[in-house]
Amino acid sequence: MSVVERFKTTRSAISDRFRRNLRSLRISVVDRCNLRCRYCMPEDDYSWLPQRDLLTNQEIVHLVELFSSLGVDRIRITGGEPLLRGDLTELVASLSENRSIRDIALTTNATRLAQYAEGLHAAGLHRITVSLDTLESDKMKFMTGRQVMAKTREGLETAASIGFGSLKINTVVIRGFNDDELCELFLYAKSLGAEIRFIEYMDVGGATHWSMEQVVDRNEILKILTNRFGEINASDIEGSAPAETFTLQDGTRFGIISSVSSPFCSTCDRSRITADGIWFLCLYAASGFDLRSKLRQQENLSDFIKDVWQNRDDRGAEKRSQQVQRSVLYDVTDLRRDHHREMHKRGG
Ligand code: SAM
Ligand code: SF4
Ligand code: SF4
Repeated sequence: MSVVERFKTTRSAISDRFRRNLRSLRISVVDRCNLRCRYCMPEDDYSWLPQRDLLTNQEIVHLVELFSSLGVDRIRITGGEPLLRGDLTELVASLSENRSIRDIALTTNATRLAQYAEGLHAAGLHRITVSLDTLESDKMKFMTGRQVMAKTREGLETAASIGFGSLKINTVVIRGFNDDELCELFLYAKSLGAEIRFIEYMDVGGATHWSMEQVVDRNEILKILTNRFGEINASDIEGSAPAETFTLQDGTRFGIISSVSSPFCSTCDRSRITADGIWFLCLYAASGFDLRSKLRQQENLSDFIKDVWQNRDDRGAEKRSQQVQRSVLYDVTDLRRDHHREMHKRGG
């Protein structure tokens, strides 16, 4: 079944207060990361979840069964860096046995992807999204704190050669850092048969260096691409993916995720589970619901999940956009008090 067919198939689902169905689940499988991207983990020190607190593969599979019985049919595996989890391939294999899950995707920095791509494909992973913000080694080192350009490109190019249902590249656009490289990144993605998605730099938890001046918004991104490639048309491909899609005259497709300038909370069907089993209803939510304890105490989770979702009224990005003086979401002291507020903990 193609990705489009998978998206088109609808199942009954429970709705929240704004009639948004529970449909898509992002699972952070590990909070650690081998990179230190300046827009995500810019500090020197972080505290990590102890191993005993991480959900086991069996627990994740069980939670996914519960969620899928309530309407979830799309899973995205994220982190931290998900490929730091040694048993990830086994997890994907188990998740792919769930017939209600039509789409299993992975977001990764790709530094370890060359080693795992083939196994993940064989295990049933449908789609991969690789984060790549620059094509220049020095900038990459500056941005991620590590010299990983060669490894990242090797991972990405290996994935491209394998033939996943879809391969995407996520590029966070930051003024003065990579806004001069958008066209080159676009062409690189095209050369790999990948679809690039430009993401507006978001003021999520952890982005402690964020400022509005650094955000290059959707219209500016479109202008940069139009100047180089000519007319761009909005694409009519449907789906609840966060990206707005566009095509060039030659048919090449790309996406823009404009969470800052035009939030899409009104159609948001996503929620997130951290590696230690806290369920967040919104990327911006200050707190979440501890599913791991309930699971380990063998409580009835199905009714609980249903109840929580039906009462959901989160629309974090929309609310942020109404702020007059917009600055960082949390400062470092706040984040140290509650590290679940970090983007790398709850997954992007
Ligand atoms: N480590 C993996 C990776 O980087 O692909 C997965 C986790 S990362 C938190 C998931 C996504 O969040 C990445 O594509 C990253 O670029 C994005 N992200 C992190 N911080 C962001 C920010 N401040 N604004 C926009 N996107 C952000
Ligand atoms: Fe790590 Fe991904 Fe965050 Fe970069 S964006 S620091 S790779 S979790
Ligand atoms: Fe969904 Fe929250 Fe993001 Fe809005 S801000 S799209 S409600 S996760």
